[in-house]
Amino acid sequence: MRLIAISYITLFLSLSICACSQTTGEQQAIPQQKEAAIVPQPAATIEVPVGAQALMDNYPDFVKGYENNHLLLADGSTILYDDLKEKSFIERMDKPDVEDMLSQPYDTSVWSPTRNYDPGRVRNEELLKYMYGKNEAEARKGLVRVKWFKQQILFSGANGAADSLVAVAKELAELPASFQKYFDNSSTFYWRTVRGSNRLSAHSFGIAIDICTKFSDYWRWKNPGKGEEDSLKYTNRIPKEIIQIFEKHGFISGARWYHFDTMHFEFRPDLLQASRHQTNN
Ligand SMILES: [Zn+2]
Repeated sequence: MRLIAISYITLFLSLSICACSQTTGEQQAIPQQKEAAIVPQPAATIEVPVGAQALMDNYPDFVKGYENNHLLLADGSTILYDDLKEKSFIERMDKPDVEDMLSQPYDTSVWSPTRNYDPGRVRNEELLKYMYGKNEAEARKGLVRVKWFKQQILFSGANGAADSLVAVAKELAELPASFQKYFDNSSTFYWRTVRGSNRLSAHSFGIAIDICTKFSDYWRWKNPGKGEEDSLKYTNRIPKEIIQIFEKHGFISGARWYHFDTMHFEFRPDLLQASRHQTNN
């Protein structure tokens, strides 16, 4: 695992020294150590995984720290970071810990995803429910109205998600007129599971938007009869310019996934930040 050392805190480096030197109470408590001998104590090292740091940096209202393989949350509770289990592709989708959510770097130079390359498609519901709402009523309370071309849509106000979507809309509006057809009939909040699974969709938390389905492709539509573990045919009609504007403001694109969902954009600034350490983007 790649780690960054956040701080090295030397708790104490105790030197056993001659009696004439000033000593602390603790050192005086061991009078039998009369002679020399430097006894260095181990320095306490707090190492925070890149992914945990990205969560703390991007969701500071909710994720306050990291300690002993747990995220420390604002309400005083904790969430296990890494369950240290080896998982198959499907197990990782169905039972992800927080670390799994960030385990596949989102590489903005990849336009043709290889087999099972789905960065960001794995979601730890415990963390998302904590930040955005544990049920439909609670998630709904966190929504704010955002002007989206000819529509007013609902998006989560938490973590700056709605503000980021406003910034996306502003920049998309500056694209040539030929692009505007992609933004009609967009949809956002909907508490539901992902088709063919028990996993909650990111739409449940108000952090995802589907732009115009007319020009969009979904892996199940293009690969009828195929399952999640099968080999798939990839296709995408959403222009790169649109994808790159979303990414600039903290969103990932379902067009980057092997299990593509090209209309889908999801607010995941944590993954984008963590991935910058692991890709050359
Ligand atoms: Zn979607």
